[in-house]
Amino acid sequence: MSEILVLVEHVEGQVKKVTLELLTLARKLGTPSAVWAGPGYSPEAKARLAEHGAEKIYVADSADVNDYVVAPKAELLAQLVSEKSPAAVFVAATAEAKEIAGRLAIKIDSGVLTDVVGVEDGLVADQSIFGGGVNVRSRVTKGTPIVAVRPNATPVEAAAGAGAEEQVSVAVSETARSARIVERVKEEKGARPELTEAAIVVSGGRGVGSAENFSIIEKLADSLGAAVGASRAATDAGWYPHQFQVGQTGKTVSPQLYIAAGISGAIQHRAGMQTAKTIVAINKDPEAPIFELADFGVVGDLNQVVPQLTDEVAKRK
Ligand SMILES: Cc1cc2nc3c(=O)[nH]c(=O)nc-3n(C[C@H](O)[C@H](O)[C@H](O)COP(=O)(O)OP(=O)(O)OC[C@H]3O[C@@H](n4cnc5c(N)ncnc54)[C@H](O)[C@@H]3O)c2cc1C
Repeated sequence: MSEILVLVEHVEGQVKKVTLELLTLARKLGTPSAVWAGPGYSPEAKARLAEHGAEKIYVADSADVNDYVVAPKAELLAQLVSEKSPAAVFVAATAEAKEIAGRLAIKIDSGVLTDVVGVEDGLVADQSIFGGGVNVRSRVTKGTPIVAVRPNATPVEAAAGAGAEEQVSVAVSETARSARIVERVKEEKGARPELTEAAIVVSGGRGVGSAENFSIIEKLADSLGAAVGASRAATDAGWYPHQFQVGQTGKTVSPQLYIAAGISGAIQHRAGMQTAKTIVAINKDPEAPIFELADFGVVGDLNQVVPQLTDEVAKRK
């Protein structure tokens, strides 16, 4: 079967879940080869990639790859495409990887598809576009298809791959060295899963009413092992940090379950969450637009509904 390159997303040497999703998807369409760019590669990382089907692992762990924003990663992938002639390149549809995908497309003169939520035989992709308002099926018709797949679009399935390692040296060009990262500041992170990767997201909107009251959203999230999200009305009011905003100008999430509490369902909010598999809405207004989208809706005051739901979840554990 044809080789499919999968760019590994990793933080502090840990392989992110989205990479396992990409390997699972790639396995259905070809033979996945993981591409590790930057420092932090370890036997544990190798094992994790191999356990999810990586037949080969190309390792370019020079610090250079990490020090110069996204350009060296695009150069690395372009080099591998030219040497290995893969059937496709899969990356995660994160802000960074989408930029890498765009740069790679220019370098290898190929088509790129972003915000993909599924890929079928013949590399036909389901794409969620125009802020999630339209779904289309697309196929790259020129060059080596580059496909950026959204986190949580594919369930992870383990399957052993050979994990044969190949060191790759990449000569980072002078052009790629034109923007250097001078400092990295670690984001404060609690015990909750990362918003864009979480399988369950509980979001609060203006209906939550205050910063203090976001604690009921957090309690529900913690009872479900979920991430917390917020509407722009809530983040603009200073009730929850902006990094948790879901929507057109915030994060795009695609969890298995999305619970929207006190959120009206404006188009800009929907843009960030409407590909969630199951949507539950809690709103006191039965006419709220979010109910048009919801699989399950509760008309009621979130101050009563959310704590009851949290208690119910706790009882069933
Ligand atoms: C260019 C642009 C970009 C934008 N980007 C984003 C974005 O990324 N993300 C985003 O979210 N928005 C975005 N917005 C804003 C968006 O248009 C809406 O204003 C916003 O989503 C509204 O947030 P909300 O649903 O929390 O508030 P509202 O629309 O005010 O809705 C609050 C809801 O809470 C309900 N409610 C009130 N009290 C309770 C209660 N006690 N119990 C239950 N329900 C209750 C109300 O019935 C209402 O439906 C953007 C707007 C623009 C113009």
